[in-house]
Amino acid sequence: MVPGIHRPAAVCVDLAAIRQNIQEEIKHLAPGQKLFAVVKANAYGHGAVRVAQEAVKAGASGFCVAILDEALELRQAGIVLPILVLGVTPVKYASLAAVNGVSLAVPNLEWLKEVESNLIQDQLQLKIHLAVDSGMGRIGFSEDDEFIAANELLLNNPNFDVEGLFTHFASADSSDDSYFQMQVTRFNHFKKLLKIKPKWIHVDNTAASVFDKKVHSDLVRFGIGIYGLNPSSNPASADLETAIQLKPAMSFVSELVQVHTIHKGQGVGYGSTYIADEDQIIGTVPVGYADGFIRKFQGFKIKVGSEYCPIVGRICMDQLMVQLPYEMAVGTKVVLISNDPVAPNSLKKAADYVDSIHYEVACLLDDRLPRKYYNLQ
Ligand SMILES: *Cc1c(COP(=O)(O)O)cnc(C)c1O
Repeated sequence: MVPGIHRPAAVCVDLAAIRQNIQEEIKHLAPGQKLFAVVKANAYGHGAVRVAQEAVKAGASGFCVAILDEALELRQAGIVLPILVLGVTPVKYASLAAVNGVSLAVPNLEWLKEVESNLIQDQLQLKIHLAVDSGMGRIGFSEDDEFIAANELLLNNPNFDVEGLFTHFASADSSDDSYFQMQVTRFNHFKKLLKIKPKWIHVDNTAASVFDKKVHSDLVRFGIGIYGLNPSSNPASADLETAIQLKPAMSFVSELVQVHTIHKGQGVGYGSTYIADEDQIIGTVPVGYADGFIRKFQGFKIKVGSEYCPIVGRICMDQLMVQLPYEMAVGTKVVLISNDPVAPNSLKKAADYVDSIHYEVACLLDDRLPRKYYNLQ
């Protein structure tokens, strides 16, 4: 995919906000607690390498990614801090991870046994974090016998460096604590079955940390908070209050490329879902669903100059149209998504509009949109 550098559209990322969010979180940590910056999925659409470099400056102790390729990207960019792959890595790539000093999550005993034989063959040692499925139903150990057998396999085993034990919460962003507490109890049970003492026992994501869930975690896997977004993702209720100040880093901007008048009865866009009921001024913006700005945004108000204007007609693959209150010049700035958290077109409000969450809307923004960085330092 080529980034479109010859059209006026970009995802802008405030690097000062990224650094500040991490520094604020580090100030909030318990004594001895570390921050691992979660930069999976191209740092939630913000650009993994740039965000990782800022995270190093801001004092992060390591990184989490979802897939091995994302870890290798960071290594190739010169990042030497620990990197943990949170997802399941195919057994055949475990040696590649070991060679690159990348830590892998262990999903189950079978994976561990198969990886062990590869590591013996290749004479390598792999850093690992044992995953516990305490209630996400996703990856990790959930049966005592299997977990105990894994511990026995790992005891004094030169092919493995057991760095961590971790679990992931399904509802750390909820004000109802019961499922969360059940998961804590499940996880504590597995902690007691450990035969090895890992360096890091960790459970906190952004939500568990910034909503002060009071559960022991040697490191915080800090994801959405880096990007300045409140992890509450329930549009039906107000955001929970965060213990630290978060500043959104991402905005999505473009410009008007055409402005023209359409007359009463004329339609806009495919299917003519919008018909002008009087003469109207229509502006065209050169972004569309191929950039990840999905068709569901039809009707959403984006900022053109100083006015919030509705998107009219269906969003096309590469263009969309807005209804302007008065004639504006070609080249007028368009803010599709604002980094002002109280703006009507904040990422959070945009996500609510399309019945989604800000995590998803940020990730959808495609590589065709160049990332532009400002506040470099
Ligand atoms: C993505 C992820 C995180 C980070 O979650 P945020 O809500 O973005 O802080 C932490 N841990 C695991 C296992 C994850 O998959």
